[in-house]
Amino acid sequence: MKYYVGIDIGGTNIKTGVVTETGEIVSEHSIPTRAERSQNEVLKDIIASVRESVAGANVNPDDILAAGMGTPGFIDSKNGIVIYNNNLGWRDFRIAPEMSRVLGIPVTLENDADAAALGEVIAGSAKGTKSAMIITLGTGVGTGYVVDGKIVRGCEFGHMVIEFGGRRCTCGRKGCFETYCSATGLINMTKELIAQNPEGKTALIAAKEGSVGGQTVFEAADEGDREAAELIDRYISYLACGLVNLINGLQPETISLGGGVAKQGERLLKPLRQKVGLEIYEGITFPKIVNCTLGYKAGLIGAALSAR
Ligand SMILES: [Zn+2]
Repeated sequence: MKYYVGIDIGGTNIKTGVVTETGEIVSEHSIPTRAERSQNEVLKDIIASVRESVAGANVNPDDILAAGMGTPGFIDSKNGIVIYNNNLGWRDFRIAPEMSRVLGIPVTLENDADAAALGEVIAGSAKGTKSAMIITLGTGVGTGYVVDGKIVRGCEFGHMVIEFGGRRCTCGRKGCFETYCSATGLINMTKELIAQNPEGKTALIAAKEGSVGGQTVFEAADEGDREAAELIDRYISYLACGLVNLINGLQPETISLGGGVAKQGERLLKPLRQKVGLEIYEGITFPKIVNCTLGYKAGLIGAALSAR
């Protein structure tokens, strides 16, 4: 058996692990990122964490062929450099070549959403499909596209406009997919609903819980609130609009949804499939629309096996 080291770099934690060539995690380790430190200090910690993972895997180190890393931000995959990462404060960080020098194996670098998408294709919701789009509905909308088991780099559709002249996005444009369909977008729309009707069920639930989350409006709808149900319907319409753009253009076999909002499961997926079905271009094969199944493990498995 051959093995690969996976490294998944996040704003809060960095996860490392040893993964088999078929996508099974044999050991894993996690450290806090503490990004306020210098790049070199973080690098030293990651290397120590990799060594922990390797020691915990109980495999012959000669069978570990390479390491793959997934990181957020703007990266140069070819040279293994993080060019810029706003959240971590990294700039021109030659992370992969440095790590390769110390570990003595090749180290590759991918965008974290791309790595997670590959993980879902190798071992999760999109296993066995020829073309898969993985969409994460979290703080933003992340998209990763994998064709024939290979990451198609740079497929970032979160800033595709789905409402011309719509809501202002952090990127400077208006009406981006992300402004409507991220958890943040849903929360903003929920807050507007609360402002319009401070006596409504959604407002009461938010007051009871002390904050507004992506689930708040679903809870209000569960209690029979019509306004909440309408907002959910509007949210799903936006999501369907974005998905249909991607389906008509790329025709993926599978679309997997992950992130906080996707936790609603079939409650979200069922009406979503219906709306997509109404808008999809005639003659296009309807893709499977499902939930991601691996959670955080997708990033680790995908990062490791992107080094194959
Ligand atoms: Zn945008």
